[in-house]
This record gives sequence, C-alpha cells and structure tokens, in this order.
Amino acid sequence: MTLGADTIAAIATGAGAAGVGAVRVSGPLVPLIAASMLGREPKPRHAHFAAFRDADGELIDRGILLYFPGPASYTGEHVLELQGHGSAVLLDALLRRCISLGARLARPGEFTERAFLNGKLDLAQAEAVADVVSATSEAGARAALRSMEGVFSARVDDLLAELIALRVHIEAAIDFPEEEIDFLADPVIGEQLAALRANLDALLIETRRGVRLNDGISVAIVGRPNAGKSSLLNALAGAERAIVTDIAGTTRDVLREAINLDGVTLELADTAGLRDSDDIVEREGIRRARAQLERCDVAILVTDQEHARSDRVFLDGAPAHTSQIVVVNKIDLGTGRARRESTDKLDTIWLSARTGEGLDALRDLLRSLATAGAGEGAFSARRRHVVALEHVQDHLNCAAYALHGAHAGELAAEELRHAQQALGEITGAYSSDDLLGAIFSSFCIGK
Ligand code: GDP
Repeated sequence: MTLGADTIAAIATGAGAAGVGAVRVSGPLVPLIAASMLGREPKPRHAHFAAFRDADGELIDRGILLYFPGPASYTGEHVLELQGHGSAVLLDALLRRCISLGARLARPGEFTERAFLNGKLDLAQAEAVADVVSATSEAGARAALRSMEGVFSARVDDLLAELIALRVHIEAAIDFPEEEIDFLADPVIGEQLAALRANLDALLIETRRGVRLNDGISVAIVGRPNAGKSSLLNALAGAERAIVTDIAGTTRDVLREAINLDGVTLELADTAGLRDSDDIVEREGIRRARAQLERCDVAILVTDQEHARSDRVFLDGAPAHTSQIVVVNKIDLGTGRARRESTDKLDTIWLSARTGEGLDALRDLLRSLATAGAGEGAFSARRRHVVALEHVQDHLNCAAYALHGAHAGELAAEELRHAQQALGEITGAYSSDDLLGAIFSSFCIGK
C-alpha cells in the first residue's frame, strides 16, 4: 500500500447518532481543500466558523472547520474536519464538495488503518476504536476506551519485553555450546520462564474477561430432551423463538438467540439434548452441542428435581474457565421453591420457565457474570487476542518441557521464537495483509 498518496474523505457519524456528524478528510490535499472551504489559509488546531460553499459559491452549510496538520493528527497525515448542522443531505453535499476538490471516498476503517500504518496506534488499539463505537453497555464502552488508550497493549508489551529478555538469555547459551549445559541449568532461566508463564496466565484471564465485556457472554443451554431448554431460552428472550414441543429431541440444530440484559449481550445457544441416540440427525445435533459447550463462557444445565444430580454429566466437557449454572426447572409442579444456592464452582437456581418464577435470579446471575471484573483498569479485548495468547501459552509450555530434554537450548529457543511471534500478532508487530484487511473492513465508514 502506498500510504497517504491520496486524500480520503468520508462522513463520520457516531453509531446510530442521527443528526450529529462531520465530514472528515485525510491526506496531502487537505491544506488545499481546507483553504478552499475557508477562503483563506486555516490556522492549525483552531475552530474556524466558516461558510462552506460549493464550486459556484452557493452556500452548502455553515459550521466549524478544524485543521490538524500532520503528523500531529489522528491519522498522522493532514486532517480536516467540517462540522455542519448534521443533516445527512448537507453532509453529503459537503462530502461531494471535498471529492470535487480531489479527495476520494474512504473505505470502512481507512482513517484508523492509516493511523495504524503511521504508527499512531497499534493494532489492538485500532480494534478498540471500532469496539468503542459499537459498545452496547457502559462497562463495555469504558473497557474499550482503556484498550484504545493502550492499557491492554502495554500489558502485552510488558510480556513481550520479558519474553525477549529470556530469549536473549537462551540464544546466548546456544552461541556458546561448550557452556550451554551449565548455562541452561542456571535456575535463573527456569525462574524467568516460570514468571513469564504466570504473567501470561494472569493476562489470559483478564483478556477473556475483556472479550466478555466487549462481546457479552456466550451462554450454552444443555440438558436432557424435554428438560425445558427451549422454554428457558424463550423465557429469557421474552418471545417465542425456539420451538417448544413435547416430542423428545425436537431441538436438533443449535438455535442461536442474542438478547440484551441492561446493555449486556447474552448469546444463547439452545442445543439438542445430550444423550445416546441412534438417530443420525440427532447425533449431529449432540455433536454440535458438545462443540458449543467448548466455546461458551457460561454453561446452563437445565434439569429438574428428580434428575438434578444425574444430569451433571451433561456439563462434562465444559472447559475449566466456563462458569456453570444448574437450573432446576419446573418448580411450578410443586417440586421446590424458587431459590439460589452458590458454591465456589457452581450456582444452582430453582425456577419455572413456564411461570417465570425465579427467573430474575438467573437474569441477575448472568448479568453479574458478564460484568465480572468490569471495575478499575478492566480493558476490552477480542477473541483473536485470546487465541493468540493461547498459542503463546502452548509454546511456553513446550519451551518449559524442552528445557529438561536433549537439545534443550535450540528447542526452547524455537518455541520462544514462535511465542514471540504469536504475541506480536496482537499489537500488529507481526501481521499479514489478510488479517489487516479483515480487521479494518469490519469498521464503519468514516472511522
Ligand atoms: P427441551 O427439549 O429441553 O427444549 O424442552 P422444552 O422447552 O421443549 O419443554 C419440554 C416440555 O416441558 C414442554 O411441554 C414444556 O411446556 C414443558 N416445560 C418447560 N418448562 C416448564 C416448566 O417450568 N414447568 C412446566 N410445568 N413445564 C415446563
């Protein structure tokens, strides 16, 4: 890509904020376009009240003109912002005027992409710009803002510095083969690696939390056929969306439902009843259900008083970081009263999906799980970051293992090199064009 060779322009509006907007322009033609719009040389970083006119001198709108010469601007290039009265028609006319003066329409995310390519933001910060714009909860917006400010990136960079220090140590040992054995036996190396792994584990926990703050939590509903999974989904979603029937095994595919509880997004996946079955279609549903369990943040087992204990097997296969909830359903049949019991590992809630009794306790619990850790310093993150950190974890585990075997130096060094690469993908130190394309094309235009 030839950076900033051309000048881009777009209408920048807040997400869904009709009536608030500006035309944003970035690139080498900005001083010229700014002077044409103002009728004289603009003062940098100064709010000019101006009459914006078309080529024939006809008034388009009156508004504020802001000129930021590069590199002290959002994109690092010369940037112009024209703030009018916000009408879509007038903004469009302003945009067309900028284009007639030599700019072209910006692609989605192109302003932020230029900021990234000019070193104004790293990749994780650039992604957080999009997350700030699309945040659906206050906790999510605050967390995304912290990531945009570089809180998450700083944590990644700290880890990167530790990793590089360790690599230097080990690579040095390889360079002096006659001393390698002694060198690698030095407990400092083992200690450094152990500290690095502990810090990584801690960051991974916070990053998973960051994804929850950003995306909401993904909740899988599992249990026997007819336990009331679809009914619970409907009760939470507040509308008849899943098919509820008395025939065992009707929910064959995974139904997905996204609902919003006070700005917290809950993604519900209703699954086929997990049980042994000869029916090939149902088996496919069960396979998907198991896969869903592996990916979810929270697993809800729907059961009833009679099967509460034996149905626990349905939660087998849920990963260790998954929060687990047992819903003892159908209390309207006289099998218990609405209540919640909590232990360290498990919450149990007695409710009736049919009457809605006890449902609020489940809502409260889901809400608190989604915003857990949303306090001071919490940052937002994306699944891509979690995957990268998991790769780092794998490589560090292998490095630790390698240190105890033959060719310890070379093998450990190789693992650490891969670990550094995986870590670098988060902030964009290593990134393919494909990845950048995928990230920036998901932005809205004007950002
Ligand atoms: P799934 O197969 O687990 O998705 O179960 P469904 O949601 O389809 O429910 C199976 C049957 O149990 C249906 O007849 C529901 O009306 C009934 N059911 C679900 N929840 C309750 C409840 O809380 N109380 C009572 N009495 N019946 C329920």
